[in-house]
Amino acid sequence: MGRPRKKKEVEYTFSDFAGLVESFKETYIGDINKEKFFGFPISPILKAEKNLISEEENSVAYFSMEFGIAPSIYNTFSLSRPMSNKNKFFTHEVFSNYWLCDYLFKVEIDKMIDIPIYGGGLGVLAGDAMKSCADLGLSVVGIGILWNKGYFKQRFWYKHGQVPEQQAWDPHSYPGLIPLKNIVTLETQEGPLNLRLWKYYVYSHDKKTACPIILLDSNLPENSEPFQKLTDQLYRSDNAWWKIYQRAILGMGGVKALESLGYQVYRYHLNEGHAAFALLEKYVNLKDKDDAGALLKKFVYTCHTPVAAGHDRFKLSDVARILKPEYVSALEEFGKERPSSDEINLTYMALNNCNKVNAVAMKHGEVMRFQFPAFDEKIGFITNGVHTHTWLSESFRKLFDKHKDFFGDWRDNPGRLSRISTLSKNKAFRREVFEAHQENKRQLMSILKGWQLKENIFTICWARRIAGYKRPVLILRDVDRLVKMAYSLGPIQLVMAGKAHPNDNLGAAYIDDILNRIDQLNGYKDVIRVVLLENYDTYFGKLLTNSVDVWLNNPIPPFEASGTSGMKAILNGVLQMSTVDGWVVEAVKDDIGWFFGYQHKGGDIGKESDQHLDEDSKALCDTLEGVMKLYYETNNDGKINIDSPWIDKMICCIEKSAFFNTQRMVKQYQSQMWK
Ligand SMILES: *Cc1c(COP(=O)(O)O)cnc(C)c1O
Repeated sequence: MGRPRKKKEVEYTFSDFAGLVESFKETYIGDINKEKFFGFPISPILKAEKNLISEEENSVAYFSMEFGIAPSIYNTFSLSRPMSNKNKFFTHEVFSNYWLCDYLFKVEIDKMIDIPIYGGGLGVLAGDAMKSCADLGLSVVGIGILWNKGYFKQRFWYKHGQVPEQQAWDPHSYPGLIPLKNIVTLETQEGPLNLRLWKYYVYSHDKKTACPIILLDSNLPENSEPFQKLTDQLYRSDNAWWKIYQRAILGMGGVKALESLGYQVYRYHLNEGHAAFALLEKYVNLKDKDDAGALLKKFVYTCHTPVAAGHDRFKLSDVARILKPEYVSALEEFGKERPSSDEINLTYMALNNCNKVNAVAMKHGEVMRFQFPAFDEKIGFITNGVHTHTWLSESFRKLFDKHKDFFGDWRDNPGRLSRISTLSKNKAFRREVFEAHQENKRQLMSILKGWQLKENIFTICWARRIAGYKRPVLILRDVDRLVKMAYSLGPIQLVMAGKAHPNDNLGAAYIDDILNRIDQLNGYKDVIRVVLLENYDTYFGKLLTNSVDVWLNNPIPPFEASGTSGMKAILNGVLQMSTVDGWVVEAVKDDIGWFFGYQHKGGDIGKESDQHLDEDSKALCDTLEGVMKLYYETNNDGKINIDSPWIDKMICCIEKSAFFNTQRMVKQYQSQMWK
């Protein structure tokens, strides 16, 4: 035996770091110095960079088309110079069934907007995963795209529905976001495509460790005009040209970015098939193609899409107009579902070539195996989660800290929240739980003050991306019955929000439908108040998930791969009313709320368009009757029945959040995917 190999020590200093920042002296010197990075300690950054260039660290690169990082609600950096007004929270309008009198009320929030580079749950999950990687002190780098015009800004026009607008923002004055000198170039059939690298650091909750996210940006003067626009809008889908380029930027540009920074990558984690071109970039540059097997071992893939129709497919002829021939022939080898096909399928490519694959919930794993029987053995599942510190409200944070004898170091280990069950019979504690919730509810009402919502009225919320399978209009399908219930059981406050993809005409039609039904409720505002908020985003995501009494989730099974908004709600003691799909399948035995509606069984996936609306609308109302009865028995105009089973359910919700968090999820990624 020889002497143990001496570890190669890598150095990484502040001047190494500052040397990479574009316009450091002119723009960033006021916020970045040897001690501080936009108000946070800089040492975690130097440590993270040092680890990423070291071969000893087994670092992971996590690719995602979108990242919902939500700095307005968590780990907000400071900026010494003035921030562009474009980065400030804009006015949100709210529609309601008493809009005529209250039309002039708008929501004004004095905050910055969140970096608008996400569309919905997939991006929020990616952001939450990065934050848990930082909390766990792992050497992980995120790869994404700097969407210069965001996803889109949503306006509702009365009688016109959703009107999408461009979302302008200013990356140069966004706190914590820095452009690097590094530029990488993709050689395409239409000429060189240059990409600037940006960085954003995600810090741990205690600010002791950090993970970078690299964002690629084509908005450079040296690019042709069409190329400059490639990174404007997330999920621009007018035609295959946009889609192929956006995926090439993420996958191929991402690999080049990692190399340009000298990062030593042990595992490439593709969050959804969008990033599958990363595999091509690595393969094309292999000197000895016999090493392909070893290369593919480094790739792992998380699939978020439940149905085959949702997967990216491109004609080889379209790809050949964009990518160089060596990439196209590699695609022919790796990306075709059938040898005779003239299309590539990115889901298939990732499934077939990545060493490990995970679905995002148990039920989703089942559904994936039905759809891809050839990969039966390979497809495992790791249930999604949410980042505890981002989504936990202040009132419950205080409550857990107050009882730290029970919860211990719950901040480092959110799994400790399961200990709440030992307090479940303690009357004083039960009162505190209900009061913490009421505090959140009052905060919602004060932000929506124009609408005069009341804290002792039953409040239910549906808010998420507007997509057909999520059935956004289900609760308003039977308006007459809703009115009857409100008269007989007690008043209802319904809060709704969500964006439909700008090219999704069906989605826009759902919004029209909601607006019309709100109109139908005009005469009943004394018993039902409906408010529909513009521009659902992470700020409202947090506000709503922690403040309403019941979180409504009614996708048509089995089309919701996981869903995560309900996990944000249970963390804050907000009860679930849900169909049995996605993550909820793993919690149906728990006392976290009520389950209703069509249930999926067997191997036939069914059609997304077959929505079971009539029977499920009835099931929803039947369930809601019981929910409202129990609510008004629990909260009788401010007189709280502390022994109510409602409070048992609140406590059980929090108990379950000990599992449905990204810390647990990332630990599973680590042990099952990255090892
Ligand atoms: C959490 C979150 C989602 C995901 O919601 P689902 O109900 O899981 O689809 C979407 N958008 C925003 C802004 C969120 O915060």
